Amino acid sequence: MFKNKKQAEAIVGTLSKPSKMPGYAYSTPAKRCLIGQKMRKVVGSMCAFCYALKGRYVFKNVQEAMEKRFASLTNDLWVEAMTYLIGKVKNPHFRWHDSGDIQGIWHLEKIVQVAKNLPQVSFWLPTREYAFVSEYIEKGGEVPSNLTIRLSALMMDGPAPVGIAQRLGLCVSGASKLGNFNCPSSKQGNKCGDCRKCWDKNEFAINYKKTLRCHPMLITICFVIFTFMFIKGLEK
Ligand code: SF4
Repeated sequence: MFKNKKQAEAIVGTLSKPSKMPGYAYSTPAKRCLIGQKMRKVVGSMCAFCYALKGRYVFKNVQEAMEKRFASLTNDLWVEAMTYLIGKVKNPHFRWHDSGDIQGIWHLEKIVQVAKNLPQVSFWLPTREYAFVSEYIEKGGEVPSNLTIRLSALMMDGPAPVGIAQRLGLCVSGASKLGNFNCPSSKQGNKCGDCRKCWDKNEFAINYKKTLRCHPMLITICFVIFTFMFIKGLEK
């Protein structure tokens, strides 16, 4: 159906390429997350710390690209275009939503269909939309062997939804500021390197180390205040 990348990108936008990951990804705006919009207001929630609401993710061009992808989700050619683009990059690992989350069962069904179309690719879908995934599976929806769905914890240092995941035959992930993490990326320059645990269904639970970074604006304000106080001190 598609003769080149440009034609497929005209439908779904471009794939993203997070520097940490071994392959490509697909990101939509974090502010469009359904659960995330509510959880962001909860102190100590993972969404309150969301990396996709700061840094390069808020640059105008990045936001525009993510909005274009978001608008494309309901396009009838979305599955065909995504299948074409992911197949074209010939990378065995693909991550759904380094930013954003599924918007409904209809969205999950499309992701499942892309995975079925590309059995040679391993897909990883982290999500906090437990209800959509539960309903999809309870109604008989299939999760292909090359799609690892991880139900992500809602709270920092909080429990992952182990019970729901076990009932549905899925995996979980969480994050903590201190110990007990088994994601090695913090020890290898914030890169996955050779690790592919997130895509591996045999790794039931992954715990990421959460590094709390200062916003550049906060660093600048602190620097200006410190300089001002230093100069005032010299004048006395
Ligand atoms: S567990 Fe492995 S694959 Fe997952 S984010 Fe950490 S380094 Fe990457």
